[in-house]
Amino acid sequence: MNMLSVQQMETLILNAVQPFTAVQDSEAVVLADARDRILADVVTSPLDFPHWDNSAMDGYAVRYADVQTCSADQPITLKIVEEIPAGYQPRQTVQAGQAARILTGSVMPAGADTVVMQEDTQRQGDRVTILAAPKPHAFVRQRAAYYRAGNPLLTTGTVLHAAEIAILAAAQCTRVAVYRRPRVAILSTGSELVPVDQPLQPGQIVDSNQYALAALVAQCGAEPIRLGIVPDQPAALKTAIAQAIATADVVLSSGGVSVGDYDYVDAILAELGAQIHCRSVAIKPGKPLTFATFPPSATAHRPTLYFGLPGNPVSALVTFWRFVHPALGKLSGLPQDWGPILVRARTRQAVRSDGKREAYFWGRLQMIDGSYEFELAGGNHSSGNLINLAGTNGLAILPVGQTHLDSGETVSVLRMDS
Ligand code: AMP
Ligand code: MG
Repeated sequence: MNMLSVQQMETLILNAVQPFTAVQDSEAVVLADARDRILADVVTSPLDFPHWDNSAMDGYAVRYADVQTCSADQPITLKIVEEIPAGYQPRQTVQAGQAARILTGSVMPAGADTVVMQEDTQRQGDRVTILAAPKPHAFVRQRAAYYRAGNPLLTTGTVLHAAEIAILAAAQCTRVAVYRRPRVAILSTGSELVPVDQPLQPGQIVDSNQYALAALVAQCGAEPIRLGIVPDQPAALKTAIAQAIATADVVLSSGGVSVGDYDYVDAILAELGAQIHCRSVAIKPGKPLTFATFPPSATAHRPTLYFGLPGNPVSALVTFWRFVHPALGKLSGLPQDWGPILVRARTRQAVRSDGKREAYFWGRLQMIDGSYEFELAGGNHSSGNLINLAGTNGLAILPVGQTHLDSGETVSVLRMDS
């Protein structure tokens, strides 16, 4: 099986993802729990926005015809027939020669078509003198000027952040249909691995990938299902992988996908009936990367995606950001922008690569004076070193064929914080 380019791998993966559908994959949530969820349906409202003509200013509601000629030299005095504070439904109709006191957001009274702001008036008792001619319809927010009842208010696939939640609240949508969260099973393969709370024997290391991947999955809005550690034994692996594909939309395993003597994952996937699409990608770190799909079954409406990520902590992280993150975005029901998000940044350090694979360097992306700068993480850039990942939020990318980047040059950086 050929080694694919990063771009080929991305295309292959995205083509294999069948996104959630409203019929099979939506659930209702109350508005308080809707943050960061994705709408599975169009939302419409029976309300116009604004609900009624209202004032954009504190001032006086008048008939434009009464005041169109007035000025400081030729002021016009009107009789105030009503006070209209917030939440009050006016009862009077403003007739010729009359005005109503009105406050911002209050309902325009019948008969009036224009608001004169307070600064252009002088009040004496129940009379107000208008000192400047307004423009027709000045400071009136017309009913339905922002939204007309029955039109789409929010479209399917909208991510619900604060602004969208405010809109839903204003429209009195107390429950909304959103796509369910993708279920992502995580298992770590390796006979050297121990859980975080067990004493380390010589030769053993802690299964840190389990925690890293669960955090990444949750950050993508998906539900991590931690299946723990599986030793490098074919029978145990087969059982664990079979259980994972039966319970999840996506399976992430780490380790066991190289060409070492104990790397059994690919063989077991084949035995379990997976279609293996790719076993290696021209990416550094992360070359041994298996992508497979299991066909739909009695429990799964769509192909189950299997990512056999490399075991090295940095390789697992890089391949997650580059390939799993966009796949989860498409699966989740996002209509576009599945990522990754790349920005251009000036690198502060020189970087070297052999140019044979697309090379990823971790570091810190910062906005300085309006442009991005990239500070390469200090310390060792081995894919086995996770210590200098701390505080990083970006991966600078050197394409195939590019062997060096000098400090001060511009580079594409994948944002790991979005
Ligand atoms: P493998 O891909 O299985 O050959 O693993 C490559 C390297 O990553 C080895 O040094 C492993 O010990 C390490 N590794 C594998 N799985 C994990 C894990 N879950 N957590 C931390 N390190 C791991
Ligand atoms: Mg291993």
